[in-house]
Order: sequence, then C-alpha cells, then structure tokens
Amino acid sequence: MKRALDPLHEEPFDIVVIGAGILGASIARDAALRGLSVALVEKRDFGAQTSANSLKLIHGGLRYLQHLDLARMRSSIRERSVWLRIAPHLVEPLPFVVPTSRSGLHRKTLLRAALQVNDMLSRDRNSGVPEERHIPAGRALSRNETLELVPELESRSLTGGVMFHDALMYSAERLVLAVIQGAHAAGAVVANYVEIQGRRSAGTGVTTLAARDHRSGSSFEVHARLVVNAAGPAAPTLAARLLGHSTLVETPYSLALNLVFPAREHRVAFTLPSSSRDPNSVVHTGSRQLLVVPWRQRSLIGTAHYPLAGRGGDLEAVEDGTVERFLAEINQAWPEAAFDAAKLEHVHAGLLPTLSDSGSSPVRLLKRHRVVDHGAEGAPWLISAVSVKYTTARLVAEEVVDHLFTRRGSTPPPCRTSHTLLPGAPASVAELLAAARRNYGELLEGEVLEHLVRSYGTGFPRVLDYRRTLPRWDERVEASAPVIRAQLVHSAATEMVCCAEDLVLRRTELGPRGLASDAALAAAAEALAAAPAPAG
Ligand SMILES: Cc1cc2nc3c(=O)[nH]c(=O)nc-3n(C[C@H](O)[C@H](O)[C@H](O)COP(=O)(O)OP(=O)(O)OC[C@H]3O[C@@H](n4cnc5c(N)ncnc54)[C@H](O)[C@@H]3O)c2cc1C
Repeated sequence: MKRALDPLHEEPFDIVVIGAGILGASIARDAALRGLSVALVEKRDFGAQTSANSLKLIHGGLRYLQHLDLARMRSSIRERSVWLRIAPHLVEPLPFVVPTSRSGLHRKTLLRAALQVNDMLSRDRNSGVPEERHIPAGRALSRNETLELVPELESRSLTGGVMFHDALMYSAERLVLAVIQGAHAAGAVVANYVEIQGRRSAGTGVTTLAARDHRSGSSFEVHARLVVNAAGPAAPTLAARLLGHSTLVETPYSLALNLVFPAREHRVAFTLPSSSRDPNSVVHTGSRQLLVVPWRQRSLIGTAHYPLAGRGGDLEAVEDGTVERFLAEINQAWPEAAFDAAKLEHVHAGLLPTLSDSGSSPVRLLKRHRVVDHGAEGAPWLISAVSVKYTTARLVAEEVVDHLFTRRGSTPPPCRTSHTLLPGAPASVAELLAAARRNYGELLEGEVLEHLVRSYGTGFPRVLDYRRTLPRWDERVEASAPVIRAQLVHSAATEMVCCAEDLVLRRTELGPRGLASDAALAAAAEALAAAPAPAG
C-alpha cells in the first residue's frame, strides 16, 4: 500500500469516507467491494484514535442478557462469528471466568441458567467459522477448577465459577489495518495524515472538500458525489464545520479508560466486581464488573467510564487524577494485586458516545449506533455514522453502504464483507503455523515465528525475505517482545508508515506492550530510512 495523494485530486469519487478508524475502514471496504469508487482519508494514522484504545474484545454481548437487550446480543454474536471467519489470524476465542458466590446475582444456578440462554441464542455461533476458532458452550466450574484457572481469586469466598467464551483481537491496530488493506485491494484510494478541513462547494451532484496533507503541509481539493463522516468523536464537530451549523448528529461523549499492568501468565479473562455502579443494567447488581483480560503477559483492566465536560472532538490528554481514580477503584476491587502507578505500562483512553442526559456520573453509554442522513438539513450529499463498538463496526458499515445506494437511487447490491476474507487470512492458522515451523523453524525462534504468522497471516514470508538484504534482520527490537528488525522495514516499505511512531505504536505491538522506548523509536526511524521504495 503506497501513500500517493495524486489519485485523490482526480475524478470525483462516488464516496469519500472521512476517518479511518474501524468504522470508516469498514465502510470504505464494503463500498469498494460493492463496486463504488471510494476514497478513505485519515487525519492522523489509521486507527490511531478510539480504535487503537479498545480492550481488544470482540464480544458476543453476554452482558446484554442482563440488560434484556436480545436484539443487540444477537447482532454481537453474529459479528463475532464474522470476525472469527474473515480474520482468524487476528481474532481468536477467549475463555472468560466469572466467579460465583453463595447469594445474590452471581449465584451459580443463576449464572448457569444465563449461560444456557446464551448458548441457545448463539446456536449458530460457529457457522462457517474454522473449527480451531469455534466458540464452545458455557459450563459451570468447581471452586478448585476456578482457582486453578484464576489463582488471583484465591482469597475470595467464592463457590466456584462459570466459564464462557468470547473473542480477543491479537492486535486491534493491525485489524484496522487489515480492513484498510482489504479496502485498498478492492480499489479504494487510501491516505493517512490527510485531514478534511471544510467544504468549498456543493454543486450539482458533486461536493468539493478542502483537504490538508499534514506531511507536506499542502492543501488540495477532493471531489465526492457522497461524503461519509466517520470521524468518531470528531463526527459532530466535523458535520457542523461541513454544514456551517450544529447538526442532527450532535452527540455528547464520555471518557473511557483501560489500564495495562504486567501479569503472571494467565490464560483466561475474568471479572471482578468493583464499587462503581452499572447504570445500563435493568437489574441492580450493586456494582460494575471490571474485566481483566490477558494479553502478552499483561492484564488489560477495563473499562472505566467518566463524564466529560466537552462535547467530543479529539482526545489530546486525560485530565490529571483520572487514571489515579481508576487505579484506586481497581485496587479496591483487587487489593491482592497491589498495583501502583509505577507498574502501569500503558493506558488506553478514548471517547465514547453517551446518552444526552449523561452530563454527570454514572455515565450512560449510547446503546445503538447512529446513521444520520443530513438530507433533512438540506445536505443530501452528507451521511454521518457514529459507532458504539469495534465488534459491530462491520454491520454499521453495511447499513451505511446500503443507505448510500438508496441515496443514489439504486438497489444496493449484496454486501460481501461478512464472507470475504481479509488480506492474509489463512484457511487454518494451525496449518499455516505448522508449515512456518517446518519451513523456517531453523531460521527463527518459535515465539517470533508465531508472532509473524499471527500478525501477517499468509503474508508472513515477505518479512522473512529481508534475511537476504537486511543485516541483523532477525534481531529483536526490544528483548522482551518478539518484534524483529525485519518487521520494521517491511512495514515501512509496504504499510503506509509516515513516521517512527506509526511503526512503534500501530504497525508493531511495541507501543501496546508499553515498549515505546527511545531505543525502539530510534530503530523505527532507522528502518524508515532503510526501507526500500514501496512496491505500490
Ligand atoms: C477504552 C475503550 C475500550 C473499548 N473496548 C472495546 C472492546 O473491547 N470491544 C469493542 O467492540 N469496542 C470497544 N470500544 C469501543 C470501540 O473502540 C469504538 O466504538 C470504535 O473503535 C470506534 O471506531 P470509530 O472508527 O467510530 O472511531 P475512531 O477509531 O475514533 O476513528 C475516527 C477517525 O476519524 C479521524 N478523523 C476525525 N476527524 C477527521 C477529519 N476531519 N479528517 C480526517 N480524519 C478525521 C480520527 O483521527 C480517527 O482516527 C472501546 C473503546 C474505548 C475508548
């Protein structure tokens, strides 16, 4: 994928999508796969804002059962199956343990019944999914089994637990990238560091947008028959800027946080009751459940929600004291872990849309996505979309693209994104890994080889090609992570990398592991200088 802005200046596109988080990427891929001419522009790097900050769960929405929101649960289950099907190298089943107690809503009988309903509602959850990515049925666990899986719960007076499975992204950043690569492969023109700053004109059938290339500082125009505003938390302000007045997509936002700490190797995710209330539950449980998710010998702990004074836009910094407040909540829920700020490796922070009455605590999140056709405001060329979950972004994109065809006065052709594999997706991850070990096991240690297979899927041998030209190609960038120098050069040459931060924070997992050191950034800068010109 080559960053070339010339194609953006040319003929009007059927669709210009603004914002390349998971939603904009999914819209661009869907529209391109259905034959529209598409441009996708992102003012920072791909997925750099909310999408890179998720807890990495592709969740089937079991908790919506408690909210009695079965429609939302069904669509989450279906979308989880889609991700497991189209990107099996980047998404895998994740076992979850919920400890049970003698009384209250966490009694084993109640949770076992909930799992039975979940299994019934998700009967088709493995349809078309490779067997190695199947989601098993839920089951009850004895106290011993629970403690064996989650020794962290040792000191609690639990009666046992229940286990269900959800799905975990190997890398949220690379999953966005894979969707963008899919859009590009289907013909979309894609560019990062290009911001849409306003509208020049909306003439007969074609709208002219003012764009700025943040790499060169130059300004230019992009022409579109229809414009999709998928700017995440900046969607309301962008719509207002494009239309010159506040618009129907006006939505308040709240701050969401996850904290990342080093962990003993734990194989399952688990829940911990915290002192915060869950205002979205119809049954008053007394407390919100913190999720502790295993990822690369780390615990991702989330998600906390805090009200925000402003109305969305870009999140530049988290207000002083907010991380400490969440840390205190975690320590209250899990005193044995004794986390302190010195152990904190990484913070995920992003803005999520809320219901309009949530100026104060506790935050009430927006439950459903919004697709707003600004035709009612005299702007039939603009559609805004606001998503509420990474998991269901593909489904929202399908709705948006169906609507685009209707707006153009034609019948939407069938959507292809739920069954078209993402670039690099193998038929079987296990077989690909076995072949990698057979063919390259002598060249690379097992952990690195597995990391390459999981990151690039069938494209992993292209990283190994650098062994012929790059000195110290197989050297780790940081001793504690299986990221090698050849990956930096490969990404720099082929994945539209503009600066060292792109490489460290989003193309590799150095940043998400809390390893964005000066040395890593220097190695990335060196790789950028050494990268061969992209093949296009
Ligand atoms: C802490 C946290 C944990 C979460 N955990 C999960 C989870 O486990 N599972 C799950 O399913 N969901 C989760 N979510 C929700 C999920 O991450 C979001 O719903 C999703 O990422 C939103 O994607 P998006 O594309 O709409 O927005 P974004 O990812 O924010 O993308 C919008 C993009 O538009 C760009 N942009 C803005 N203005 C312009 C402009 N003028 N020109 C060009 N580009 C522009 C921005 O730079 C940005 O990259 C979590 C969210 C947070 C914050």
